[in-house]
Amino acid sequence: MVETEALFSAVLDATADAVMVTDRAGMIRRVNLAFGKLTGFEPAALIGKDARELFSEINDTEFLGELWDEALTPRNYPKVRSKHADGRAQVHALSMTSVNDQNGQPSQFVAVILSDSFQTDAGGGQARQMGHDALTGLPDRSILADRVGQNILNAKRANKSIALLVMGLDRFTLINDALGYAAGDQMLKEVAERLAKVIRVSDTAARLDGDKFAVMTPISAIDDSVIVAEKVLNAMKKPFHLKGEEVFITFSIGISIYPTDGLDFDDLLKDSLSAMQYAKHDGGSQYRFFASDMNAKAKNRLALEKRMRAALANEEFVLFYQPKVEPKTNRVRGAEALIRWIDPVHGMISPGEFIPVAEETGLIVDIGTWVMRKACFQVKAWQDAGYAPIKMSVNVSSMQFKAKDLLDKVKLALSDSKLDAKWLELEITESMLMNDVESAIARMQAVRDLGCGLSIDDFGTGYSSLSYLGRFPITTLKIDRAFVKDVQENPNTAEIARAIIGLSRGLNLEVVAEGAELQEHIDFLKDNGCDSIQGFFYSKPLDAKAFEAKLTRP
Ligand code: C2E
Ligand code: MG
Ligand code: MG
Repeated sequence: MVETEALFSAVLDATADAVMVTDRAGMIRRVNLAFGKLTGFEPAALIGKDARELFSEINDTEFLGELWDEALTPRNYPKVRSKHADGRAQVHALSMTSVNDQNGQPSQFVAVILSDSFQTDAGGGQARQMGHDALTGLPDRSILADRVGQNILNAKRANKSIALLVMGLDRFTLINDALGYAAGDQMLKEVAERLAKVIRVSDTAARLDGDKFAVMTPISAIDDSVIVAEKVLNAMKKPFHLKGEEVFITFSIGISIYPTDGLDFDDLLKDSLSAMQYAKHDGGSQYRFFASDMNAKAKNRLALEKRMRAALANEEFVLFYQPKVEPKTNRVRGAEALIRWIDPVHGMISPGEFIPVAEETGLIVDIGTWVMRKACFQVKAWQDAGYAPIKMSVNVSSMQFKAKDLLDKVKLALSDSKLDAKWLELEITESMLMNDVESAIARMQAVRDLGCGLSIDDFGTGYSSLSYLGRFPITTLKIDRAFVKDVQENPNTAEIARAIIGLSRGLNLEVVAEGAELQEHIDFLKDNGCDSIQGFFYSKPLDAKAFEAKLTRP
């Protein structure tokens, strides 16, 4: 069975035609490498997405409805349009077939796009679709309205929110006046391209009119919309090259949220436009929420960022260490370094509060460097004091892991502290690896080549496919505490925990469980062969002095 699956994957990935499998509802269940190439998206990132999202911006929804219904009998479509990750439209021939379940009901659909059939949709002229802006090729206001409407329906059902960001260039008329309309058009086109690059598959970017653009994005927290706004502002920071000149522009962004600010597209648009005007009046190059208390929250974030910078300079960060215990011997075999912020006014602040903000602002890179050095020096000091050596794990954030100088920083921390690389382990999460799997693997290998361990943290909560796992040059899997917390009473959780331990065995990886709080957790993990266990049952994270008391002599 496993062999058939592997064979099936290999065959799929070897074929040059793009293949997509969806379920009855049109959710993507599987795509091959060629499909990823065709659409410009990482295959893993497409799983679970609505297939219509890839096609519907250019084809009207009715056509897609038909496509799915008619696929009950195999059919070929000579001309179908799809959307590339970079916003480009492309045309190709597509054939659809359905696969029936035991009851003869269609349960899955297979779409094949013939490799020699696709070409870029030139836009404009005949190929240009109604509803798309002629200059930039982005969806126009009517399509945006339609997409917002659809997303409101989904959000209502799932109890979720949507953000509508409206953005206008600051002082665009100056550019038109100084460089002429052709240069102005050129700039708008490039703005559209940059915009298309920063949004996710589930988002829609549109051109409203003149210098006004919009992005609709489904969100699960208000912060998500801030992230999009900051991404957009950042994307526009690089100079534009117009008529041999470097031109800098800025954007003002207004944000409204469904359902708090409005219940339909018209209301949301009105709110976003008015918020954008406020952003412009306040000097431009910034975002504003329609709801004023949101602005207060955004301001808090800015204040937090400022305080964090100061905290780094004033050494207000400390590291706590949580023991990893080998259940067979009850001895401490390792530690995870966990950062704490001791703010003179607010007291101890947990990483859950400031790490996400540090990530978005880029401050995480400096904080991470500090953590890495501190942890290396500490574990070496314990070795020098004569304790049995333990392995030190350090959490590495996504931005840190992708930074060009990661390796240099690790090397320097090791050489300055004189710590042997084998006592250092980096903890990364699955989600950091899936966007660009190939380059992530190269990075992981480079870390391993230094001699450090590499662990996947919170394993089981991300969306990594098991087929990748075997290719990741890791040393350790860390079972997320979600699969530990109720093993004693939930047979499903227990089965998953057992499977992860078994998987680690098969792949020759060390397996660590986190979040063990009860004797039952320890018994279960020990009986099932877990190498080490971290959790409140043994100890909460401790400061260096308290941790030292747990160490043993060889
Ligand atoms: P994580 O890496 O998964 O760390 C484990 C978290 O689980 C820690 O929370 C730890 O205190 C908590 N924990 C340990 N045992 C138990 C238990 O038995 N029950 C429960 N309920 N919780 C337990 P903490 O210290 O608040 O850290 C939270 C997250 O913040 C970490 O999750 C990690 O993702 C991040 N973080 C912490 N320190 C750093 C750091 O230096 N750099 C980066 N980039 N992220 C960090
Ligand atoms: Mg961790
Ligand atoms: Mg964890």
